[in-house]
Amino acid sequence: MKRLFSGVKPTGDLHLGNYLGAIRQWINLQDDYEPIFCIVDYHSITSQYNPKKLPDFVFKCACNYLAAGLDPEKSLITVQSKIPEHTELTWILNCITPVSWLERVPTFKEKAAKQSGNVNMGLLDYPALMTADIILYKAEAVPVGEDQLPHIELAREIVRKFNGVFGQLFPEPKGIIGKVGRIKGLDGADKMGKSLNNCIFLYETKDQIWTKLSKAVTDPARIRKSDPGDPEVCNIYALHKLLSDTETQYEVANGCRTASIGCVDCKRRLNDSLDSEIAPIREKYLELLTKKEYVGSILSEGSRKAAEIAAGTMDQVRDLIGFSYEFLE
Ligand code: SF4
Repeated sequence: MKRLFSGVKPTGDLHLGNYLGAIRQWINLQDDYEPIFCIVDYHSITSQYNPKKLPDFVFKCACNYLAAGLDPEKSLITVQSKIPEHTELTWILNCITPVSWLERVPTFKEKAAKQSGNVNMGLLDYPALMTADIILYKAEAVPVGEDQLPHIELAREIVRKFNGVFGQLFPEPKGIIGKVGRIKGLDGADKMGKSLNNCIFLYETKDQIWTKLSKAVTDPARIRKSDPGDPEVCNIYALHKLLSDTETQYEVANGCRTASIGCVDCKRRLNDSLDSEIAPIREKYLELLTKKEYVGSILSEGSRKAAEIAAGTMDQVRDLIGFSYEFLE
């Protein structure tokens, strides 16, 4: 089976956008690939962060992964900084990657604009680290959002350069684009995200979610309940399509177009569908929060097994780049 690599930055609790846009897809991929799901803490320090909170974020991220259905029997769940080969390989890739390749990556420009007071080398070098993350395990499949495709294209270019300069070693990774597009937040405009305060966290209760959903933006054409609307322009319907059964989807879409259902009822039905999907995740997550040793053991074991693969790759890399000094013990 081909190996697959993906990762999430430990920046706090995961939200519905992370789940629908990435993790739910990962669960299904576990049977078709040899997956490594990594908590990429080296990536998280390229922006301002609180070192005291980082361990808690890593732990909660692992609890979320496991609660959502990642199975440690099928997947290695790892912590990036426990495998120093990630940064060792990054340095080697840095030495063959033209700066101009990194400067042209659109997310660098966006991030640099967002944190103009902290445009650090790590921010620029993020795609080289991402390339190292993937090829350290010779992973051939990388589930990504469309916005990350330029990173995969760059990773492929770096791999071609390495293989061309030192000899064929790494397969060119391919992005697996999920069927689910961009998950919009409750504002109906921006991508769902913590910093925009437009998200639903996976740990929130049905009542807490209702408080947020009840204020969520809908089709602006529906000023009164008697005004027909267009479900295709409404983010509530977009979420129905991801969470409700086909009968419910049909009923709310039809009800919206004929003004026979109000937005409040439509949102209540979404909340029911949402709760059916995430209540088991929430319960499992709350249980795992009390099992620090168990979760820690899964991360340690996953990281240990991944480190063995990484060590084998780095032996080959060091040989190819001329770092095999036989006169040293
Ligand atoms: Fe959106 Fe539902 Fe209201 Fe239609 S009825 S505008 S789909 S919330």
